[in-house]
Amino acid sequence: MHEYTFYRALLVSWFFVAAVTFIVLLFIPAPYGRHSRSGWGPSIQTRFGWMIMEAISPLFFTLFFFLDNKGISPVTFFFLCLWLMHYIQRSFLYPFLIKNGKKPMALSVVGMAIVFNVVNTYLNGRALTLFSHSYALSWTRDPRFIIGLLLFFGGFFINIHSDALLRRLRITGSETYKVPVGGLFTFVSSANYFGEIIEWYGWACLAWSLAGLSFAVWTTANLVPRALAHHNWYRKTFADYPKRRKAIVPFLL
Ligand code: NDP
Repeated sequence: MHEYTFYRALLVSWFFVAAVTFIVLLFIPAPYGRHSRSGWGPSIQTRFGWMIMEAISPLFFTLFFFLDNKGISPVTFFFLCLWLMHYIQRSFLYPFLIKNGKKPMALSVVGMAIVFNVVNTYLNGRALTLFSHSYALSWTRDPRFIIGLLLFFGGFFINIHSDALLRRLRITGSETYKVPVGGLFTFVSSANYFGEIIEWYGWACLAWSLAGLSFAVWTTANLVPRALAHHNWYRKTFADYPKRRKAIVPFLL
């Protein structure tokens, strides 16, 4: 089979799998963090879980980017740098910043995340190099690139800042939860997820590819149900939880 045929079939199926995943996650939250529970098999320390599952992404993206790539342009190289910026932070910095790195994480969660990251990096890496329109330097003056870049960096900043606000709620080794305050937590329970979703819709816009859109849709499928679960958990756990705060989209959801 020609690789392009395989790529297209995978891309189309990937949207369907995201839709199914969204529905499943509305009823069964992924078993890590506050939604951890027994029955999901052996576990490893959360810190190493994050590192292993997320390190797949910069490694495989770089591999798929350079494989058979005869047309690296400054623009596609810039895309590679953006991807690496996000994922080097997530795989090699974030796991060492969290306060409860020794908490167990089910290996099944790590396994599912690895599959997700491999497919995602394949689709997005190949989209930039083999199966997309060409990215000439003039693309950087296109409104889709400029708006996408603003969304990408805006979302990245909100995500990092909100994760940092969550860390301030704990001392090292603690596993207690408090009501998050400050930044976009004023409006939503999962400000970090809101930032992450904005960031990947920004990527979809600046790369203007279906692969980019599939990643943004997947991020939505993963994080919206989880934000709803977090929000319900906060409301049940804290009697004084701010009434007007939404789950993930300020003023709306
Ligand atoms: P959470 O918001 O559930 O937790 C982030 C960290 O903060 C965890 O260490 C958590 O501890 C701690 N924490 C959360 N809430 C509180 C609180 N109220 N009081 C004290 N500590 C708290 O995020 P995730 O762990 O699900 O995700 C981590 C990062 O990964 C996020 O930036 C997210 O956007 C990103 N992500 C991206 C996905 C994608 O599809 N692109 C999928 C999943 C995550 P504990 O672990 O004990 O709950």
